[in-house]
Amino acid sequence: MTHAADDVPADSTVYKTLLESTKAIPWQIDWKTLQFTYIGPQIEQLLGWTPSSWVTVQDWADRMHPEDRERVVDFCVAQSQAGTDHEADYRALTKDGEAVWIRDVVHVKRNEAGDVESLIGFMFDISERKAAEQKLLALQEELESLSFKDGLTGVSNRRMFDSILDAEWVEARRMGQALSLILIDIDYFKQYNDCYGHIQGDTCLKQVAQVLASAATRSRDGFARFGGEEFVLILPGTDAASALTVAERCRSLIFKAQIPHDASPVGQLLTISLGVGTTIPARHETAIDFVEMVDQRLYQAKQRGRNCIVGAL
Ligand code: GH3
Ligand code: MG
Ligand code: MG
Repeated sequence: MTHAADDVPADSTVYKTLLESTKAIPWQIDWKTLQFTYIGPQIEQLLGWTPSSWVTVQDWADRMHPEDRERVVDFCVAQSQAGTDHEADYRALTKDGEAVWIRDVVHVKRNEAGDVESLIGFMFDISERKAAEQKLLALQEELESLSFKDGLTGVSNRRMFDSILDAEWVEARRMGQALSLILIDIDYFKQYNDCYGHIQGDTCLKQVAQVLASAATRSRDGFARFGGEEFVLILPGTDAASALTVAERCRSLIFKAQIPHDASPVGQLLTISLGVGTTIPARHETAIDFVEMVDQRLYQAKQRGRNCIVGAL
């Protein structure tokens, strides 16, 4: 059986037509002279440079984004010298100075003696793919930041708190340094919701988060929403006395904010209760036990009538 293709003569004009009608742009460079012996006319449509303006490899290097140039040229020269087929992604510059993402796929042609004779390649326009990739990366970053952020208040969420605590726990144990934790719970928040409604409750939580976030001032201090109307501060390298000072600051900042809470049994303003703990993590101790201990102190603060702090001192 004969195929139609068998009847096509191996005529160079056929190959030329084929080469020059593809989207990929073919080219050839003579290895000895480092000059272009051929470049597809499609190059002009893509980059604006006429085929006859591609004379030497220097033209190719010059028409590359400066940030990509050294990496790509060094890589391609090394691969070509080694006689290895290769490919490289880079931004080519158009005549108007725009950047177009290109994938250059290169075949190294050798003569019978095995010496590199020429390079033959195809340039592919991959700008659409790169744009899609970049969009995906940006989305991924956004997703990552969102997954560590509390949707309502915008502060770190519980997941972030867990990972910060894990890291700081290990670090404090390694350094033999004190680590402090403050757990904060809004007093009578159920009554707040009942009195003002859930929407107002949400607004109140945002405000409380903002106020409390300003209580800790060191760069490594961490603040997060621990749960519903509970917040937490992690204070690395902070002893019990300093932690109590921060807790007192939290209480006074909330008082200064003067958030009305008509249904609160402790007064007409919103108040918070706080549990404070400090430890130098020992081998047998776990971060979970530590959080549990501080939570017990928060519970005691509630027992003592709320709007107060229970700490170690
Ligand atoms: P206590 O002084 O003992 O802490 O009293 P409380 O009413 O604050 O009691 P508790 O901590 O058990 O209740 C928390 C309430 O906070 C219950 C829940 O309806 C409310 N809450 C939790 N998350 C949210 C939220 O995202 N928005 C609003 N509006 N309310 C929330
Ligand atoms: Mg609570
Ligand atoms: Mg509460």
